[in-house]
Amino acid sequence: MARINENYTRLPGSYLFSDIAKRVSAFTAAHPDRSIIRLGIGDVTRPLAPSVISALHQAVAEQADAATFRGYGPELGYDFLRQKIADVHYGRLGVKIDTDEIFVSDGAKSDTGNIGDIFAADSTVAVCDPVYPVYVDTNAMAGKAGHYQSSGHWDRILYLPCTQENGFIPEIPSPHVPAPELIYLCFPNNPTGSTINAIDLQDWVDYARRNGSVIFYDAAYESYITEDLPHSIYEIEGARECAIEFCSFSKTAGFTGIRLGFTVVPKELRIDGIALNSLWARRQSTKFNGASYLTQRAGEAVYSEQGQKEIRETIAYYQDNARVIREGLLAMGWSVFGGKNAPYIWLKTPQNLSSWEFFDLLLNKAGVVGTPGSGFGPAGEGYFRLTAFGSAENTAAAIERIRTLF
Ligand SMILES: *Cc1c(COP(=O)(O)O)cnc(C)c1O
Repeated sequence: MARINENYTRLPGSYLFSDIAKRVSAFTAAHPDRSIIRLGIGDVTRPLAPSVISALHQAVAEQADAATFRGYGPELGYDFLRQKIADVHYGRLGVKIDTDEIFVSDGAKSDTGNIGDIFAADSTVAVCDPVYPVYVDTNAMAGKAGHYQSSGHWDRILYLPCTQENGFIPEIPSPHVPAPELIYLCFPNNPTGSTINAIDLQDWVDYARRNGSVIFYDAAYESYITEDLPHSIYEIEGARECAIEFCSFSKTAGFTGIRLGFTVVPKELRIDGIALNSLWARRQSTKFNGASYLTQRAGEAVYSEQGQKEIRETIAYYQDNARVIREGLLAMGWSVFGGKNAPYIWLKTPQNLSSWEFFDLLLNKAGVVGTPGSGFGPAGEGYFRLTAFGSAENTAAAIERIRTLF
């Protein structure tokens, strides 16, 4: 008789976004005349850049002609795109990455979820709290997380609390705690919008090298950085020996629907003499047949001079929304974090409301929808996330409604 992967039965239901949807539809059913502004979404809303659209059209035309038709591509990505990533994305940071260290994929969610495949099944894992839920749930599915506790934590995961006290930057574990083998870091951060500077990131790289740990660095929001902060972990000395980096075109160029990302596994990254680069190449070429030709041509267009100019305009649009939210709430005297180098604003709920109490109040009294911080982990309780991905008009209107309410 077939047996299921028991780890799946241990997963708590992913109630966050369905709970939100339920409460919003109950509200709209009761108040069909009231307008709702959604600042909870983690998805972009602006259309793709014109350069990307024309590259897509051209690639479609090529597929229509036997002389230029392309079938299966290289599983790890076309050279035309890997070269652009090396030259433009890493070149302008002064970071040297070889094309065979770049693995093109359908996005950072799959890669951050799949990377655990090449490590021991009982590897120990550390994540931030609050956290992007993908890191935790994929480890739970693989049996690395242990059992789910009523506290909202898994008993085999080491949680690194990110709080107002530590500026939402995880602290290096004490030397008395066994060092986790795999460490997930994401900066600029989802959900807190916090960033890490080169000195603090150097501490993490040094810690990982000292202990033989591997850092998984999710840089999905690097294009939102406005201050002098590392865009890539490879700007940090020693990172090539201990870190894998994940990047995505989703928030950078609006590819959430198109699907494209890439992961870097440097050749120096070895465990017991075995190169993780070869293992990931083996894993990807066995289980993945590559991102589509169309999307890779679209990705190439992002790196053209015109493409860069166009995506920067859209990023600036979202950054301006983030500024409107941040400044609007700060002017009310609220404790507000993020929003400067990230499309996320993380706020301390006023009047010590719980995350869900604040959610209900905002929905019922202002018709504004956000995301309860507790949905990202126990340390998110008492916090709330607003996103900058809405329209400028709605963003300004939402802040005005919040101001009127409080
Ligand atoms: C949106 C997001 C990504 C991007 O995922 P894709 O699969 O590339 O769309 C990755 N990491 C975090 C933390 C995100 O919020």
